[in-house]
This record gives sequence, structure tokens and C-alpha cells, in this order.
Amino acid sequence: LTACGSGREGTSSTDPSSNGSAPAAGFAADATIGVALPWLGTQNWKEAETMFKAELTEAGFKPLVQAADNKVPQQQQQIEAMIEQGAKAIVVGPIDGTQLSSVLETADAAGVLILGYDRLIENTAAVDGVVQFGSIRTGELQGQALLDGLAAKGEGPYNIELFAGGPADPNAPKFFEGAMKVLQPKIDDGTLVVVSGQTDFTQAATQDWDNSKAQARMDSLLSGFYADKQIDGVLSPNDGIARAIITSAEQSGQNLPVVSGLDAENESIAWIAQGRQYSTVAKPTQDLVAKTVELIKIAQSGKALPAGDDSENNGAVDVAIFQLDPVVVTQANLKEVFANDAERMALIEQNS
Ligand code: BGC
Repeated sequence: LTACGSGREGTSSTDPSSNGSAPAAGFAADATIGVALPWLGTQNWKEAETMFKAELTEAGFKPLVQAADNKVPQQQQQIEAMIEQGAKAIVVGPIDGTQLSSVLETADAAGVLILGYDRLIENTAAVDGVVQFGSIRTGELQGQALLDGLAAKGEGPYNIELFAGGPADPNAPKFFEGAMKVLQPKIDDGTLVVVSGQTDFTQAATQDWDNSKAQARMDSLLSGFYADKQIDGVLSPNDGIARAIITSAEQSGQNLPVVSGLDAENESIAWIAQGRQYSTVAKPTQDLVAKTVELIKIAQSGKALPAGDDSENNGAVDVAIFQLDPVVVTQANLKEVFANDAERMALIEQNS
């Protein structure tokens, strides 16, 4: 539905984020809404599956929620099936941000509202907006948490290693870029020493966000570079990879390094309470789903989407970004951040 431009109200020719098409027409209040998730391998995507079903139903829509096991052709087929079943809006958390142009252009031609969820949709004009937590900001919080945790340990220089997420996921290079904005100056001035020398995204990346691949890389970094050294800290792009890194360090007899994370997964909340994982970044699925459903309701009623909080060039057009704020979590603010979350508060109590 480029009818909404890139989610911008204005269609002035000077607004680069507007695709400049006609206004939206709206659709039935009980329309089918497709949600294409990349996989269910981390807690946030499992929550998204459950919450989209519940919230879309509650809003009167017919949800069609599918996950694709990190396989691009499977995700393409799932989206095709959503178009065939008459979905009026399709929400996509892409496995590979660049591999959906053709299927989404088909959806767009059929007048479907297309929203990116959590991840950017790249290289196509067939996207009306993306709902996400700022990815660069998330990375900055991860890098800063790592630095803060190291400073609390004592004086540097500190030996560290760097991990990033799955290279196909558009978030992964952005998380890394944000973190390196904070860490690179400290590498340059000698405060941080990446003992392996592996500082490029491609070296740090973890194919498919696979925790076992991260653990294998950590095992070989420790045996290859830390036989006679302690590792002080590790940049981790999410909680699953953080726990894999920590497990590897524990098994090799290292002192516990400072490790960052992302998602505030239940298991990592417990590990933070126990002092095993240093930090995570909370990006509540509930808020992301609620914002997405809110945009779908606006489009349903026939109104244009509001202006995004930001816009980002996706390789083809400037896309409106509806942005939420991530929050860094350490043992120090654990109870404060989750004060209204009974399930996580119980976990914190059990593990403190
Ligand atoms: C999400 C993270 C998640 C990761 C792996 C990223 O795109 O933002 O929340 O941990 O994918 O599933």
C-alpha cells in the first residue's frame, strides 16, 4: 500500500520519505491480517506470535501469524499465501531484509498495507513503515553497558572480544555499528584490547543468530588467544548469545567476563539477578506489537499513517520508522525496570 507513501501524511514532492501516491482507502474491520515472523528461536519472537494473535483478534481482525524457521523461501511462500488469502495488511519481521522485494511488490500492487516489524525491510519501495526500537541506539546501549561494567571491575586496559548477530538481519550490523561508536575510541586509545584482533562485523557475526555457533567461536577464541590471559568483557548482541559466551567462559575456567545482551529474556533476567550476565537491553514485545496494531487500525479506518518518528533509507526509498526507546538493564535497575511485570519480578526475587 504505497497509497500511504512511506507512512507520511504529506505527499509534497520535496518530502523524500513520501512515495506520493493516492490516500488510503481503508478496509473491512474484520479483515485478515498477515504476520510473517522470521523464526521462533528467541523469546521475543515467541512472544510476538502469541501477542499478535491475541491483539489482532481483540481488535476484531482475523490474524494469520506464521514463522519461517530462518528460511527465506519459506518466508516468501508464507507471504504469498497471505496475499492469496486476501490479507489487507502484512506485518513482516524479515529473515533477510533484502530478499522480499518481489513478493512485497505483489502485495503492494494488491493494495496491502506493509509494515516492517522489529527489522527493516530493504531495497524496495513496497513498505509503508517500520515499527522498531532504534537499532543504532540499542547498539550504543550495549557498548556503553560493556564499558560501564568493565570500569566497575577496576582499572584497564581490558581484554575484550566482539560478537554480532546474524548478518542477513538488518538489525545486526546496526547493533554492531552503534556499539562500535562507543567502543572504537576506547580501542583506539588502548583502554580496550581486542586480543584476537577480530574487530570487523563479518568476523564478529553469528550466522543465523545461532547460539551454538557463538559458543563454538567463543571456545576457539579462548583456547586460541587466552591460554595465558584473562578475558574481561565481551560484546554480545542478544541474550541467547550472551549465555552461550558466559557458558563457554565458565567451562574454560575463566573469571566471569562482563557480557552485554539484548531482549531481557527470562533466563537472562535470572542470570543478571545472579550476577552471571552483566546487562541486557529491554525492548518489550508488548509495546512493539501494540504500536503495530495501532497503525493497522489507522489504515483500516481509511486514514493515512502518521509521520514516523524518523526515516531511514532502505536502499530504495526513505522509510518511515515508528521508533520506541530501548532501556538498558543491569542488576542495579532490574527491579525498577520490571516493577510492573509480575512474572519477571518473581524471577528476580528467586534469583537474587
Ligand atoms: C531482534 C532481537 C533478536 C534477534 C534474534 C533481532 O532482529 O531485534 O530481539 O534477539 O533478532 O532473533
